[in-house]
This record gives sequence, structure tokens and C-alpha cells, in this order.
Amino acid sequence: MQVKLGQSVLEIVEGDLTRQDTDALVNAANPSLRGGGGVDGAIHRAGGPKILEECLQIGGCPTGEARLTTGGNLKARYVIHTVGPVYKDGSHGEPQLLASCYRESLKLASAKGIKTVAFPSISTGAYGYPLKEAARIALQTVKEYLAQHPEITLVRFVLFEKTAYEEYEEALKSV
Ligand code: ADP
Repeated sequence: MQVKLGQSVLEIVEGDLTRQDTDALVNAANPSLRGGGGVDGAIHRAGGPKILEECLQIGGCPTGEARLTTGGNLKARYVIHTVGPVYKDGSHGEPQLLASCYRESLKLASAKGIKTVAFPSISTGAYGYPLKEAARIALQTVKEYLAQHPEITLVRFVLFEKTAYEEYEEALKSV
């Protein structure tokens, strides 16, 4: 499913993030940037050791911020590593931090001349963010960014599970 927002396209697909041919992939990283499970592990496996080398050089990333590396062996030229919030109860700044992940990732893309970006559903795996609420925040934040930044021509959300795709589909209808 896709929607046109001004000059840009916002789309959701079911699939594997690591196989996308966008200019950049966004990694749901952890603050150490030393790799991990879930989509983080999949990106490092598919992209090879170069990405981890660059991550170790950077040294880490605070929650809600983003850092850039090259894409190693991935089709994507760049990986934007962002650190989502661990969900407690929603009253510990989680919504603001999650929105910040999407915004800061896109800011890095704009600064680097990256035009097409693929995101996973940040924080909804090991970090436990409820999917429905996370989907709404993700899509709303990206939509607001694209309205101000036509230089980003495509944002694609790549959902690994059908249930995640369905939640994003519902959310996309209402943002
Ligand atoms: P977090 O620690 O931010 O919660 P996870 O990697 O544990 O990150 O999960 C984030 C989301 O990424 C989950 O919905 C998970 O199902 C999904 N995911 C895992 N592997 C992939 C992949 N290869 N492509 C896209 N999404 C993936």
C-alpha cells in the first residue's frame, strides 16, 4: 500500500528490510552499536563486517538519535543506525523518543543527499513497544517530515510479519 504526499511516496510492504534497494536502510540498533538480535543482527549478517567496524569507530548512539555508516555488502549504500526506546508504560518519554528516531534518521538522510529510505518497525521487537501505537507514531512522524522535505522521495516501511503489516496498514489509513 502506498500514499503520495506532495512530491514524495510513503509506502508499506511486507518483507525483509535487508533486501531493499533504497539508498539507505534504517537499523533498529542498541546504544552500544555493537550489533544484536532481530533486524540489527540481520543487517550485520547481510552487510558484512565493514558495518560493525564503522559502528565501533563511532562508539555508540543515545536513544532517540541516529548515526550513519556505509552499507557494506548490502544493496543499500548507507545504513542509518537509530536507537529506539525500550517500552516501559508509555509515560517515560517513549512516544517522543520513538518519533525522534524517525525524525533524526530522516534528517541524516537529507543531510547526506539520500533520497530513498527503508525503515523497520523500530522498538516493536525486543524493545516491546505496542505495535498499534508505534505504527501511528512512525507514520505520523514520517508524514510530517515529508511535508517539509520534498528532497526525500520515498520512505518505505518494511514489515517482517503479517500482523505488523496489518497494523501499519490500519494506521496508514488514518494518518
Ligand atoms: P527493537 O530492539 O527496536 O525492538 P527488533 O529488531 O527486536 O528491534 O524488532 C524490530 C522489528 O523488526 C520487529 O517488528 C521485528 O519483527 C522486525 N524485524 C526483524 N527482522 C527483520 C528484517 N529482516 N526485516 C524487517 N523487519 C525485521
